[in-house]
Amino acid sequence: MENNDNAIIHDIGILGKFIHIYCSGKHQGMSKSRVKGNGKVAQYVNSLDIELCDDCKKLLLYAASKRIICPYHPKPACKDCATHCYAEPNRSKIRQVMRYSGMRMIFKGSISYIKKFL
Ligand SMILES: [Zn+2]
Repeated sequence: MENNDNAIIHDIGILGKFIHIYCSGKHQGMSKSRVKGNGKVAQYVNSLDIELCDDCKKLLLYAASKRIICPYHPKPACKDCATHCYAEPNRSKIRQVMRYSGMRMIFKGSISYIKKFL
């Protein structure tokens, strides 16, 4: 169980990074505040220490909650998964985020980050 917990921490850290890159690039000038979750999500997101606009914050909290309840250990890449747990419009939003931030990560040579979520 503890290993799985580390995997969740790792994955939510990546989600936070992606959404942060996206929000910094796309939502300049919007008011932003530190991401804080409630309940179980809090223990994973509150330590990320990132600031996002309200929309991105909601998306991250949503994604984090989905990651926490993911029934697969180890988690498969989302595109190979039979469950497709994201509902619209979050599914489209997170894809946009992954595409946008993924491109920027590739430039920086961080491809291994991306594979898991595309
Ligand atoms: Zn944003």
